Amino acid sequence: MAVAAVQEDIKALVDGLHFAEKVERSLRLIAEAHNEFGDGLVVANSLGKDSCVVWDLAKRVSASIRGFIITTRFKPRETKRFMSDMVERYPELAVYSSDAEIPEGLHETDPDACCEALKVEPTRRAIAEMGVGCWVTGLRCTEGRTRTDFQEIEERDVGLVKLNPVLVWHEREIWQYLALYEVPVNPLYKQGYRSLGCGPCTHITADANERAGRWIGTSKCGGECGIHTRPLQAEYVI
Ligand code: SF4
Repeated sequence: MAVAAVQEDIKALVDGLHFAEKVERSLRLIAEAHNEFGDGLVVANSLGKDSCVVWDLAKRVSASIRGFIITTRFKPRETKRFMSDMVERYPELAVYSSDAEIPEGLHETDPDACCEALKVEPTRRAIAEMGVGCWVTGLRCTEGRTRTDFQEIEERDVGLVKLNPVLVWHEREIWQYLALYEVPVNPLYKQGYRSLGCGPCTHITADANERAGRWIGTSKCGGECGIHTRPLQAEYVI
């Protein structure tokens, strides 16, 4: 899976492919990567709606594909329950978290440091411990201002390929897939959330921006936790 060979005009794909073509494309991307990386292909399952689609697609490619979930002490009760249900159904989903001591209220005073400790560090650990050669994410380029500069296949960390198989999907197509294939989702979506994260940093909004409810009131508003923007192989090289 040569990274350079698959750089395409992402915008053209977003608007040029219809729903069924996007499903086929995503399945093909996962299948090709699975052929190349085998057990080293691992899904990063955030338990959000996009990850639920990617996980379902991956299971259609091969039931043996593994995944990992990063959870934190601040995840809402509903998310923790949904995670338990998913892990019970799919024991090949490994759960990672951090017990690091952090200052009280760090998510307000320095959300980047909080995410680094509670999300990015466990992601690095998961990638190292699970022997990941290619990690698969639910990133979509239509999701917000911070997500426009990605490709379907990337190698931002040398030696670690990142596959974003639903990169060119619209939010509507994600919900279309979840409905048509009857994929369960976190019940918090029924309350009006459009993007889910830790409880204190996630709010319901009527804003047009899908990620507007994330880190409201901080410099990180609508931004990223860091797993897609920070180096992931810095500390656990084996
Ligand atoms: S989303 Fe908020 S609470 Fe969760 S790790 Fe990041 S800053 Fe901390």
